[in-house]
Amino acid sequence: MSTKKFNENTILVEKIKDFRSSSIKRKFKYEIMQLDKPVSFWIKEDRLLKKKGKEFAIILRTKGCSWALGDFGGCSMCGYIQDSTIEKIDQTHIINQFNYALKEKINDITSDEEDFIVKIYNSGSFFDDDEISEDVRKHIFMKIASVPKIKEVVIESRVDYITNEKLKKMMSILKNKYVEVAIGLETVNDYIRNKYINKGLKFKDFLDAINLCKKNDVGIRAYLLFKPPFLNEQTAIEDCAISIQKLAELKINTISINPLNIHKNSLVEYLFYQNRYRPPWFYSLFKCLLKACKNNDILSSVRIISSPSGAGTKRGIHNCLKRDCNEFMIKALKEFVLTQNINSLIKNDLNFSCDCLLKYQLQKNFI
Ligand code: SF4
Ligand SMILES: [Zn+2]
Repeated sequence: MSTKKFNENTILVEKIKDFRSSSIKRKFKYEIMQLDKPVSFWIKEDRLLKKKGKEFAIILRTKGCSWALGDFGGCSMCGYIQDSTIEKIDQTHIINQFNYALKEKINDITSDEEDFIVKIYNSGSFFDDDEISEDVRKHIFMKIASVPKIKEVVIESRVDYITNEKLKKMMSILKNKYVEVAIGLETVNDYIRNKYINKGLKFKDFLDAINLCKKNDVGIRAYLLFKPPFLNEQTAIEDCAISIQKLAELKINTISINPLNIHKNSLVEYLFYQNRYRPPWFYSLFKCLLKACKNNDILSSVRIISSPSGAGTKRGIHNCLKRDCNEFMIKALKEFVLTQNINSLIKNDLNFSCDCLLKYQLQKNFI
């Protein structure tokens, strides 16, 4: 990453770095035993390429994202560094973390009637050798390759670490699986991505990464951030709908929409405490999906998913704070994701009414 590339963003960067360094200073050191277990792992329902299935997700604890630890402080909404070790850790721990999660869940996976997608998260870049070494990557791929029930694999990386050689090596082991590399694009708009999110990523570099993946028969999953800081609801709807349509044109395989939830010690948390940021309304997300998908057949060529963290809480995507209101929305969104049928949201639009809709309509251009 060129250090000169994003230095015009000084005020935002300085602010993000302040939050980052104070949170790092307050962090406690992990015990050796903690390093042998992942941050978290779970199995839950998910959408596979052509049908409903299950996800087996593992969050590995590594040194942390190089972008967050570097001179530019990382992304404005991100607090993942909280789960990282900051210092380099012995790679045996990473192997132990992965093995631990797999051992705990392997019986559930093999005895389940449905097929699985495995998602390896490390809140950074799977292809960054500083976080995960080549040998560890190989170990993880070989273990995954040996489980026939796992049909799909997702790993995530900043584009800086995606190389032809790494993709080739991965596919030589995972040749019988469908593999996606997930990239945090957040929006197709360079200005919003770099000025407001401080992503340090240009769209043209994303396009280069896509080409590299396509060349190696690797699928692409793009993360879109729904309602980045400094956008109101209406602008967020437009930004995300345009992004979905552009990515569909580019034949991206999967679009994963992440409605912003407030991470601890992030710049967005600071804005939130000052009442300068409100997480998105469900109404906006649904409007955006309807706008992007209604009048064309986007969903026949691209999988669109969204599994919002903190949904229904003050810090995550929510309407009013009434339980029924948010639960209705969460259910409709889940149905849409699992079936890939936009009617799940249209049906919801017709059947649901809560008093907060009026408030939302009055405010959506201002909050
Ligand atoms: S969002 Fe991703 S790239 Fe940005 S700082 Fe967090 S982990 Fe790093
Ligand atoms: Zn409501």
